[in-house]
Amino acid sequence: MSAPSLVWLRDDLRIADNPALTTAAERGPVVVLYVLDEASPGIRPLGGASRWWLHGSLEALGRDLAEHGVPLVLRRGAAAAVVPEVAAAVGAEAVFWNRRYGGAERDVDTTVKAGLRDSGLEVASFAASLLFEPWTVQTGAGTPFSVFTPFWNACRALPEPRHPLPAPELAGADADAGDALDAWNLRPATPDWAGGLRELWTPGERGGREQLEAFLRDDIDDYAGGRNTLGDRVTSRLSPHLRWGEVSPYQAWHAVSASGADGESVARFLTELGWREFAAHVLYHFPDLATRNWRSQFDAFPWRPLDEAKLRAWQRGRTGIAVVDAGMRELWVTGTMHNRVRMITASFLTKNLLIDWRLGEQWFWDTLVDADGASNPFNWQWVAGSGADAAPYFRVFNPELQAKKFDPDGAYVGRWAPEHLTGDGPEPIVDLGESRKAALGAYEEMKRTGA
Ligand code: FAD
Repeated sequence: MSAPSLVWLRDDLRIADNPALTTAAERGPVVVLYVLDEASPGIRPLGGASRWWLHGSLEALGRDLAEHGVPLVLRRGAAAAVVPEVAAAVGAEAVFWNRRYGGAERDVDTTVKAGLRDSGLEVASFAASLLFEPWTVQTGAGTPFSVFTPFWNACRALPEPRHPLPAPELAGADADAGDALDAWNLRPATPDWAGGLRELWTPGERGGREQLEAFLRDDIDDYAGGRNTLGDRVTSRLSPHLRWGEVSPYQAWHAVSASGADGESVARFLTELGWREFAAHVLYHFPDLATRNWRSQFDAFPWRPLDEAKLRAWQRGRTGIAVVDAGMRELWVTGTMHNRVRMITASFLTKNLLIDWRLGEQWFWDTLVDADGASNPFNWQWVAGSGADAAPYFRVFNPELQAKKFDPDGAYVGRWAPEHLTGDGPEPIVDLGESRKAALGAYEEMKRTGA
């Protein structure tokens, strides 16, 4: 029997449409490896909700691979040490993976690739998590795009994304099991805060496929008109499945394109996938997106000294502003939040409370099941005004008007913060009109004092 190939999975926890896995399967037997890397420099530790999701996703993947006799080896440690060690232990002659686009992740992958090649192994990486590779989309001057619309036009002028690959025929090889998933303690012990997550989500490739099918069956036709409606949610809820690669963007793209659904809804959905691409491309060119202002002008922004009580009121959904409280509680209970409410709550934190966007980003990072190293900081900076293609600063969301427009019957607030509907909610922690003025003043001050 030929030597096995090792497939190192990361943000691509699926069997179908997985070019690294398909390439390995075509050569012969396969061993699959997942490394919980909390040791390599610069790799951001996963938040609590992400850890919960990862447990479920690895459990599902392990089961699916076992049906084909393929082992899923779990190991914890720095990838630069673990990957070569496992490759040697299973006698692999080749190692394959799908590419990542964060700065620290690329550094790790470059090191691993060089080490494996020095030891005489074949190594290849593939495009699987983005529809367009960042280095293929540039302005006429050869620079990265900083505005979405021309970026997306340039993407659409490239050849259409490839069709997804079918699940490969797999054969396994012997391998030591590695760590037990339970030993990683990815799920909460006590208190068990994950009940709402379990109720809503099914991590794993099958869960993702079912979610995509349900969206195509029930909601896609209403997507263009209804995607901003808070009460009766019609969006796809695919974000965590895309984040973890249980559904590939190629699968989503082609399933929606071929759905025969309302043309405007199809186009709108594909454009949303475009925002996911844009965020990843911005991260690729600006690896410090989660920590540094994309517009350096904002380095001079006069954030208020941190008021812990206000930050905590925001985190816990006790600001006294109905739709903000509803959103923050939806997030805490379910690990997700409607996109419009993400914008409203982020605007409230950064503009009405003048709290640094990095603190909000970190809270979302810890509590979202779709917490993404590109999309999360990208969108936070977009709302705060410091990001690429950010809305003009003076457009401070008015949460009350937003709620009137997008939750006119109060269905959303009624579900998550019902006491607000009977006037029993907490007092607002800030005056919306005055704090808006203060935000505009802070912006003017930044312009005066900044470079
Ligand atoms: P749909 O409306 O069905 O959209 C389809 C897919 O398009 C989504 O699953 C997602 O992959 C992508 N998408 C849609 N909108 C955006 C966007 N603005 N930016 C990037 N991709 C987008 N999304 C994440 O996946 N991870 C995050 O960590 C994240 N953090 C955010 C933080 C803030 C402050 C804001 C304002 C938005 C954030 N988003 C993030 C974007 C967006 O809110 C979610 O992708 C969306 O709500 C997920 O729901 P859905 O899958 O039903 O979306």
